[in-house]
Amino acid sequence: MLLGSLGRTKFRLICFLGCILVCQAIEAQQHHIPTFESQRNKVFAYNVGIGAAIGGIGALINKKPNEKWWKTLAKGAGVGAAGGFINYQAKNATFLITKNEEVGYAWISKLGHSVGASMVENAAMNRDFWASWHISMGPVRFQIDRQNKYRPEVKLLPIALAGTIAAATQGKFDLKYTFASGTPVFVSDSVGGANGGKLGRAFVNSIVIAPATVEDFYGIFAHEYVHTLQYESFLGINHFYPKNKFLNNPKLNWIYWDTYFAVNGFLFLFIDDDIRCKYNSMIEREASHFAFREALPLCK
Ligand SMILES: [Zn+2]
Repeated sequence: MLLGSLGRTKFRLICFLGCILVCQAIEAQQHHIPTFESQRNKVFAYNVGIGAAIGGIGALINKKPNEKWWKTLAKGAGVGAAGGFINYQAKNATFLITKNEEVGYAWISKLGHSVGASMVENAAMNRDFWASWHISMGPVRFQIDRQNKYRPEVKLLPIALAGTIAAATQGKFDLKYTFASGTPVFVSDSVGGANGGKLGRAFVNSIVIAPATVEDFYGIFAHEYVHTLQYESFLGINHFYPKNKFLNNPKLNWIYWDTYFAVNGFLFLFIDDDIRCKYNSMIEREASHFAFREALPLCK
């Protein structure tokens, strides 16, 4: 009855969001300071788990009539998990920025995460893992697709564009850091934020950051860079709606609707304004976990 009124696709999406909420709530119950290793295991499970869930659910939704459901699910979840593992390694590589004090290492993370996110997306579409590849830089998505004989395509990302415009109001465009990282970077003396005294902030797929003279600049840059990679964490859910006229309008195929970012917005709702509680949010926790490689405290 519930399935009938909601529609199977929406029901699956709600289950998926519910799983994330339950995980967040369990995490928030912990009062102790976990070890670095225990946090690492959770961050690992989070990345691989999200890839497997999106790949598996998407593959089932896009299952061909002649396919056995359990084979389709296994393939989607397997390829999605592999993509999630690559995403984990790509985010992990942001520590090279902190350790070597060199923004250019961001490209390792950018390229790696593009491979991982492409694999999760292919899994969710129930296609071969190599069927399409893409890279998103600020408000632009470059992609090649087997359906189009791997002809390069450029698409606009509307929510990322809004983020770049918002970032541009906060600082001065910095060509050097933009080229070095493959992400639009704006430099400002004071970066506003809920916690005050913030030195960096990610606006969807763009970054505003205080100058390189600030202590911990590279660690903060790496932290914000992880946020820009997280922008694509839920990219595959677009393919939960293969018949949606808005997402699949052929006249607007120069736009890639990055509505998947709404899931990040959903998770951000659970960030406490109190800085001590900030790391109860997986989005913030994994950003600092990767950028600084240290155990982060949890609270109530
Ligand atoms: Zn952050």
